[in-house]
Amino acid sequence: MNILVVDDVHENRILMRSLLKHGGYEDVITVESASKAFQHIGLESPSNAKGKVDLILMDLMMPEIDGITACRMIKSKPYLIDIPIIMVTANTDSKSLEGSFASGAIDYIHKPLDKTELLARVRSVLKLKEEMDRRKAREKELLEVKHKLEDANKELRRLSARDGLTGVLNRRIFDEKLAEEWRRAPRENALISLILLDIDFFKAYNDHYGHQAGDQCLKSVAKTLDKTLLRTGDSLFRYGGEEFAAILPHTNLGGALHVAETLRSNIESMKLPHEKSQITDHITISIGVATLKPSKGNFYSELIELADKALYEAKKNGRNRVRAIHTMANHQLQTAPVEVEQKAVN
Ligand code: GH3
Ligand code: MG
Ligand code: MG
Repeated sequence: MNILVVDDVHENRILMRSLLKHGGYEDVITVESASKAFQHIGLESPSNAKGKVDLILMDLMMPEIDGITACRMIKSKPYLIDIPIIMVTANTDSKSLEGSFASGAIDYIHKPLDKTELLARVRSVLKLKEEMDRRKAREKELLEVKHKLEDANKELRRLSARDGLTGVLNRRIFDEKLAEEWRRAPRENALISLILLDIDFFKAYNDHYGHQAGDQCLKSVAKTLDKTLLRTGDSLFRYGGEEFAAILPHTNLGGALHVAETLRSNIESMKLPHEKSQITDHITISIGVATLKPSKGNFYSELIELADKALYEAKKNGRNRVRAIHTMANHQLQTAPVEVEQKAVN
């Protein structure tokens, strides 16, 4: 333990050093003024500190800067605040004592010095300091662990929201997001569009090229879909198997059809070979689009049902195309659906 003794009188410094040495404290530095003490502990700049100090024994009466002022200055620095200071004083009047404690001193010792008293006080303060240091270190450790846990949790949340194969948001997040948008939309009197899409003849692709190639194909398709949607600000999900979904908040049927057609043509432009496709020689997708105005009287499952029906129509009508089902009065699902064919290949 390093002890710094600050006293303007040479004899006092010699005596203090010798008493402390008798008590087993070898690492004692003595200085003759508060300014010298400041230099030693690095009051102005911590990087200039000459060494670690665990305790300061500070003379109260000193020319230039007195002990109380010095103590206050040291305690005003956050990086020095934990160094305990024992005031050494010949004045035991209440004003001096009050001033000492108010400036941040932890204890005081009378002059003339009594060896037993000095060592007892020094020992108890150093023990307290040790305990405090231990607790601080433990708190720091705990804080680091807490930060690591927070980071791990964040990563876990990110991973649990994503589909393992393609990296796009998964079905669980799709359900959450659609429910959330459905709740929000009525307040804003907004429409929601949903796109469901499915790779054409994908079973044949797997059978012909193998499951691993099938996985690679799914990844490539997801990447292109994701990139396309990034530009429009909507979100893509893996709905299951070779099906993907996109939620388009605040989007009417016209807008959704435009996005769907861009998705379809971007996948077709990839020209991923698919020898076993019954309609062409590369990978294509079929898309179903639905638009509804959420209200108290309907559920988002209705939107999924409509998009699914539209997708079925796209498949039935030759695949590699976009079909939409749009109710004239959005809140009345009984209304006969109007089919919109956006693109017919073949
Ligand atoms: P359609 O044009 O009518 O959509 O026909 P399809 O063959 O694409 O549809 P079907 O539902 O009969 O087959 C889908 C296939 O998708 C079945 C399965 O082999 C494949 N599939 C689903 N999920 C995965 C996956 O994660 N990886 C791979 N490699 N294949 C998958
Ligand atoms: Mg399919
Ligand atoms: Mg399918």
